[in-house]
Amino acid sequence: MFEYHPQKNCLANKIILITGASEGIGRALALTTAAHGATVLLNARNVERLESLYDEIVNAGYPEPAICPMDLSSQNYEDYIVLQNSIGEAFGRLDGIVHNAGQLGRLNPISNTITNDWLKVMQANLNAPFFLTKALMPLLEEAPNASIIFVSSSVGRKGRANWGAYAASKFGVEGLMQVLADELENISNIRVNSLNPGGTNTAMRRMAFPGEKPDSNPSPSAITPAFLYLLSNDSLNVNGQALNAQSGSPYPKLSGDK
Ligand code: NAP
Repeated sequence: MFEYHPQKNCLANKIILITGASEGIGRALALTTAAHGATVLLNARNVERLESLYDEIVNAGYPEPAICPMDLSSQNYEDYIVLQNSIGEAFGRLDGIVHNAGQLGRLNPISNTITNDWLKVMQANLNAPFFLTKALMPLLEEAPNASIIFVSSSVGRKGRANWGAYAASKFGVEGLMQVLADELENISNIRVNSLNPGGTNTAMRRMAFPGEKPDSNPSPSAITPAFLYLLSNDSLNVNGQALNAQSGSPYPKLSGDK
C-alpha cells in the first residue's frame, strides 16, 4: 500500500470537490478527507445517498460539507458553469478536485460495442473531467496550492481485451492529466496527477469481476492514503505523475504522525 502517514489536520481549511462521492471509493474518500479537516463538496447523482453521507460527516463532528448533486453525463457546459458559480459564491476558491466518478460500461470486444454505450462511458469518465476542470479553473487559481487528481486504472496504462471504452477513457484521462500538468507547471499554483486505485472492493469491481471473492480486494477506506498525500501540502512539488494507491510511495521520506 502507498506509504503515507498523514498529519491529523493535513487538509484543514481546504475546500475539496469529490465526484462520485455517493458510494465506493468516493464515499470513503469524502469521509477520510473530512476527518483530516477538509470541507468536502460531495458530487454524484443520487441525492439520498449524498444526504446520508452529509449527515454522517456532520454527526462525526467534521467540517460541514456541501452537497453538489449533478449528473456528469451532461454535455451542456452551462451546467458546469452553474456549479462553478455556486461553489464560487459559497467558498470563493477550490483547493482540490478528485475526478473519481466513473462508469464501467459493458465489457465486450470493440466489434460488439454499441456506439451509444461508448459515448456514455467517454462522457462520464473523460469529457466530464475536462468540462469540470475547465469550468472550475478560476476557482483553483484562487487557492494558494491546488491539487487535481484524475482517478485512473491499470487498463488506462496498458490496454486489455474487452475493456474497450472504459480503458480508452482512462488512457484519455492520463493524457489529459499530462497535458494539463505540463501547461500549468511553473505558471500556476495548481498541480495535476493521476492515481490508479488498484482493485478495490466496490460495486464497480464486483460488476467487472463477478467471480472474484469481494474481500480479496482492499476496502475503499484502505486505499485512501495516496489520495490524502496528493491533496495535502506534502505533495506540493509532485506534478504530472501517474501514481498507484496500492504501491509503495515513490516519495518515501514523507512523514507525519501515525
Ligand atoms: P462505484 O462504486 O461504482 O462508484 C462510482 C461513483 O461514480 C458513484 O458514486 C456514482 O454515483 C458516480 N457516478 C457514476 N456516474 C456518474 C455521473 N454520470 N454523474 C455523477 N456521478 C456519477 O465505483 P468505484 O469502484 O468507487 O470507482 C471510483 C473510481 O475508481 C472510478 O473512476 C473507477 O474507474 C476507478 N477505479 C476503480 C477500481 C476498483 O477496483 N473499484 C479500480 C480502478 C479504478 P451515482 O450513481 O450516485 O451518480
